[in-house]
Amino acid sequence: MTWLESTGEKSFRVKQIEDWLWNKWAKSFDEMANLSKDLRTKMDEIFVIKNLEIATQQKSNDGTIKAAFKLFDANIVEGVLIPKGDRMTACISSQVGCSLTCKFCATGYMDRKRNLEPFEIFDQAKAIAQIAETEFSLPLTNIVMMGMGEPLLNYANVLEGINKIISPQGMGWSPKRITLSTAGIAKMIIKLADDQVKFNLALSLHAANDEKRNQIMPINESNTLSALKESLRYFFQKTKNQITFEYIAFQGFNDGERDAHELANFTRSIGAPIKVNIIEYNPIAEADFVNTSADNLELFISILEKKGIIVNVRRSRGKDIDAACGQLANKQKTAAVA
Ligand code: SAH
Repeated sequence: MTWLESTGEKSFRVKQIEDWLWNKWAKSFDEMANLSKDLRTKMDEIFVIKNLEIATQQKSNDGTIKAAFKLFDANIVEGVLIPKGDRMTACISSQVGCSLTCKFCATGYMDRKRNLEPFEIFDQAKAIAQIAETEFSLPLTNIVMMGMGEPLLNYANVLEGINKIISPQGMGWSPKRITLSTAGIAKMIIKLADDQVKFNLALSLHAANDEKRNQIMPINESNTLSALKESLRYFFQKTKNQITFEYIAFQGFNDGERDAHELANFTRSIGAPIKVNIIEYNPIAEADFVNTSADNLELFISILEKKGIIVNVRRSRGKDIDAACGQLANKQKTAAVA
């Protein structure tokens, strides 16, 4: 903070100001009671405090809470709290909108307006932690970067935001409880490995065959499965961090026996302990995919398990308020509770 030094203030003021901004969520410089009136006035003339505000908060029948955060420039991003017993997971956004146009994802039908700033990423985590305290009297246990946007296309800000969540001056979190989910940008997965990140990685795979993946995730045209495989192998070799694959089984598209074999072969080729999360498809208005049937899913999973793959089935949460994966598109349903 060179401006502060130029005013002749002592260096410990930086910590005080950071504490007001990051931890106490000061809305104005005037609140910063341990700074001189003179410094507060000067700062007010030069700087703007960019706060995150909870515009609306909705609660699903299953307890999931979706918060719409209003940013300083009036853009809105969404964050979700998913309670499951004592497990409180925050799902947070990395961009306003998204540029990747995945065919099954509501955010993919919005334009990408801008990247979130590091403090906007951190503030979402903090705000959702507060909601968990208020609503359930429980601390947050997990954070997933699975909200709006592609985190690896906002690399520097996302890493800085996560580092703030991890740092003792921020939320003091263990990186092992944080997962970044990506549609798969090979070059950036390699960068994560080179940067020796300590958090977990999830890859939204959804098809283990280039021709099919191209149809539903256009990003696959420039980041093919073989490029992703190489980057993930590298990521695991360098970091040993957990890699999870996310897979939505769409009826009649990628839920056949052959698809299961392709999925098993692809994930095993990474050479790492593999987990596959089968995500229930949350229907969106823009597309006409259908989730696979229960019988089919059973067969699909048995093929994976026979090949030694650990499979979890992730039931959808918060569907009635459009808070489930892929449904985040700034829609408001029912009466919003502020
Ligand atoms: N861009 C990142 C993070 C946001 S999407 C990524 O692609 O991973 C978070 C997860 O929700 C991804 O696995 C995504 O594929 C999944 N998803 C998107 N739309 C969905 C939908 N309609 N139903 C279920 N999951 C969906």
